[in-house]
Order: sequence, then C-alpha cells, then structure tokens
Amino acid sequence: MAQILDGKELSKKVKENVKIEVDKLKEKGINPKLAVIMVGNNSASAVYVKNKSNSCRNAGIDFEEFLLPEETTEDELINLIEKLNKDNLVHGILLQSPVPKHINIDRAFATISPEKDVDGFNAINVGNLTIGRDCFVSCTPWGVMRMLEEYNIDLEGKTAVVIGRSNIVGKPMLQCLLSKNATVTICHSKTKNLEEVVNKADIVIAAIGKPNFVTGKMIKEGAVVIDVGINRLEDGKLCGDVNYKEAFEKASYITPVPGGVGPMTVAMLLENVVKAAKGL
Ligand code: NDP
Repeated sequence: MAQILDGKELSKKVKENVKIEVDKLKEKGINPKLAVIMVGNNSASAVYVKNKSNSCRNAGIDFEEFLLPEETTEDELINLIEKLNKDNLVHGILLQSPVPKHINIDRAFATISPEKDVDGFNAINVGNLTIGRDCFVSCTPWGVMRMLEEYNIDLEGKTAVVIGRSNIVGKPMLQCLLSKNATVTICHSKTKNLEEVVNKADIVIAAIGKPNFVTGKMIKEGAVVIDVGINRLEDGKLCGDVNYKEAFEKASYITPVPGGVGPMTVAMLLENVVKAAKGL
C-alpha cells in the first residue's frame, strides 16, 4: 500500500509562503503582478484562468486578464505581449493555451520576455533548464519536483521513466529529474515494449492524457508513481493516467487525481511570479 503524496496540502503550504514573500515585496513598494492572456472561448481554459486568478488574489498578487476575441490576429497578440513586456508594473506574463489555429503559439511564447515567462515555455528558459542555469521552469514538472523533495524522495541513481514528451510536461520533467541525477527514460506513442520499460522504473511519471493508461501490472513493486494526467470521464468525474486502485497496491508513494500534481502546478506559478517580481 502506498503513501499518498498530498499535493493539495503541500500547495497550501507553498501558497502561505508565497503570501509572506508577497507582503515583504509590498513593503519594499513592489506589487507582484501577473498578466494572463486568453484568446478565444475555451471553457476548460476559462476554468484554469479563473483558478489562477483566485489563487493570485488570495496570495495578494495583482492579476489582470486580457480576454481577446477568437478573430484576434497573431500580430495583435504579439503587440499586446510586447506592450506587457515593456510594462514595469507587470512581472509575469502567461499565455493560456490553446490559442486559435491561425496563431503560431511558438512565436507568441518566444515574444514573452524570458524574465517575465513565468510558465517557462520560452525557448530561452527551456535552453537554460537544459544547461542547468537558474530559469523559469514549466510549473507542472517543477511542482512534481517540489513534491518529491518535500517527501524526501531521493532521486540520485534511481531509474525514472516519464511517459509523454510534450514541451510543457514530459521534456522539462526529463531535465528536472536528470538534474537530480536520476537515470531517465522518456516514452511516447512510438515506444516499443512500454510495459517492460515502465516495469523497471523506480519512479514513474505519467503525462499522457489517457485515463487509466498505466495499470498496476506495469508498475514495479515499491515504485513512486506520479500521475500528471487530468482526464474528464463521461460521468463528469476526473481521473488520471494511472489506474489508481491498482497502482496504490504496488507503489510506495502515489499522487491522487485530483489533489496531487494539479494544485502544485498553480502553487508553482505563484512562486514563479514572486521570483519574477524579485528579478530572476
Ligand atoms: P500532450 O497531448 O501534449 O502529450 C501527450 C504525450 O503522451 C505525447 O508525448 C504522446 O506521445 C504520449 N502518448 C500518447 N499516447 C501514448 C501511448 N499510447 N503510449 C505512450 N505515450 C503516449 O499532453 P500534455 O503533456 O499536455 O498533458 C498530458 C496530461 O497531463 C493530460 O491529461 C493533461 O490534461 C495533463 N496535464 C496536467 C497538468 C496538471 O497541472 N496536473 C498540467 C498539464 C497537463 P507522442 O509525442 O508520440 O504523440
């Protein structure tokens, strides 16, 4: 039976610390501020943005939303980002994905000043992560690392398998684990013998977007299982990429969904805004 890695509890602790840091900054006359841009109507994005806005306000971080219509051109979006880059009162800029298809999101991310890129998606921050420099790291993998650290899970020399190679989760996760001296394998949809690969892992990180993809059989006895996936089932319930019931019996530690990685992602965003306000 596994011990639960409680992201909800830990995120509260992180948020309390953020509030203390925000108050200190305010005493020095700095009001940390996050600007969030959303293009078009996407109900899931709207929920995420609302969640971020509430978390910022609770921590005393100023929050400004830019809700742009679906027909916004790429140049209009770029102009807004450039304006926010120059605004000294804005410390963090976040572009909510997805954006409408006519917009090149990579160009938009690349326009966000690396010093304000609190999501860590700009290629400069991605590159700095790769070469081990201080930078903004994508909030989800960063939140996973904070959880592992909080529960004293040592990564040195451990075998870690990340399933999923997206730019926002899988790839930065690989770099974070590597920086702590884990031996890391990354799997994706073309991986052969995935079950065998996962079965050798001391640490399994699932970031696939497929409900219950990782079964108990795939997990090595005593492995640490981190479930990044958030999937909405037909009955409206949320579930992760890991079959929780089965994995719970084999793992030494496991994250629940909801209440695991999700709350940590938002908490890390707040930390990154504070970091940006202090000056990276
Ligand atoms: P993407 O869709 O961008 O990437 C999914 C990855 O899974 C791809 O690399 C894909 O491989 C891989 N994959 C798909 N099918 C298989 C398969 N059969 N076998 C092995 N690998 C497979 O997703 P994200 O990284 O953006 O998100 C992953 C999950 O995490 C989603 O459920 C998402 O909602 C959730 N999420 C949760 C967050 C949180 O805060 N908890 C934050 C961000 C995401 P390939 O590259 O070959 O296509």
